[in-house]
Amino acid sequence: MNHHRSFEAAQVALRLLAWYADCGRDLPWRRTRDPYCIWISEIMLQQTGVTAVIPYYERFLRRFPDLRTLAGASVDEVIALWAGLGYYSRARNLHAAACRIMAEGGGRLPEDLKALQALPGIGRSTAGAILSIAFNRKAPILDGNVRRVLIRLYAVEQPPRAATVEKELWRRAEELTPEDRAHDYAQAIMDLGATVCIPRQPRCAECPLVSLCLAHDRGIVAQLPRRQPRKTVPLVHQVALLLERDGKLLVRKRPLQGMLAGLWEFPCRTQETGQQAASAVQALLRGQGWRGEPRELGRVRHAYSHFRLEVTVFYLATEPACEEQLVAEAGQSLWLSRTGLEALALHGAHKKVRELLAGSS
Ligand code: SF4
Repeated sequence: MNHHRSFEAAQVALRLLAWYADCGRDLPWRRTRDPYCIWISEIMLQQTGVTAVIPYYERFLRRFPDLRTLAGASVDEVIALWAGLGYYSRARNLHAAACRIMAEGGGRLPEDLKALQALPGIGRSTAGAILSIAFNRKAPILDGNVRRVLIRLYAVEQPPRAATVEKELWRRAEELTPEDRAHDYAQAIMDLGATVCIPRQPRCAECPLVSLCLAHDRGIVAQLPRRQPRKTVPLVHQVALLLERDGKLLVRKRPLQGMLAGLWEFPCRTQETGQQAASAVQALLRGQGWRGEPRELGRVRHAYSHFRLEVTVFYLATEPACEEQLVAEAGQSLWLSRTGLEALALHGAHKKVRELLAGSS
């Protein structure tokens, strides 16, 4: 039985490698074997698609061409280059890991699964991807794309995140990964998931694994992966205030710790349960010692992993009398022109607020 299985596993790997030689994508991070570049690309690709990643990857490497430059930069600057990619803890972790490698690892990424996983922001799959792609070492990966391929290939019908399924998928991933050509294999299976075995309407007719695929054989491709039972995501209401004085708007920087750390935003406040937006914005004004009747401009929505945010946006031209108080309060605040705002590292929800402002004038 085991023997039969490993024969199949070898078949899967061989077919994937042959397919990859013809159909693999040409991506910027595939033109290098530099572990540093591979690491940056893998972190960016964790929660973001290839098309969105490419310009960020290129910009990031122009500014931080190697580990030493990244470790020498301020975390602020790293986050600013990340603005728009989302999941900012990735940027903070990259910087922290770079500093640690410079301090302890002699300036090179470790060629070892455990040591890689001990670095901030590198989980088992990312460590596997770095090892196989950069160092050509056999190490299984199980990112979103690979997970979907394996679930279909082996017709796994249980909810995909169950612990037993997780274990089974890692075992399969390990079994499939060939001893040699780990570099190509890792990219081949990720590509198959990204371009052929795609979430909706996979292109089974073009798939090199079609004759080995259990889901295809049983006609259940469309049902897999099974949906995870839905979590209800709470909706949080917030008011944001566009305060304008002499053609400049007030923005503030978030603390360096916690959610969206170090990014910029317009003054804002979370609404209490049952509180109307108009009353929340008055509380925001009072809390800062400001006065006035802000005008409602509209609403924007933004989704985070654990909640959704709805921001009601208000606009107010300030009275000059407020000015002194504003400056006193503004330890981490700035008045910026609309052009200045365009270059600012606002977090995602408040980028939408900025778009609303641009559309309103
Ligand atoms: S045959 Fe279809 S479902 Fe099976 S691995 Fe290929 S694309 Fe995915």
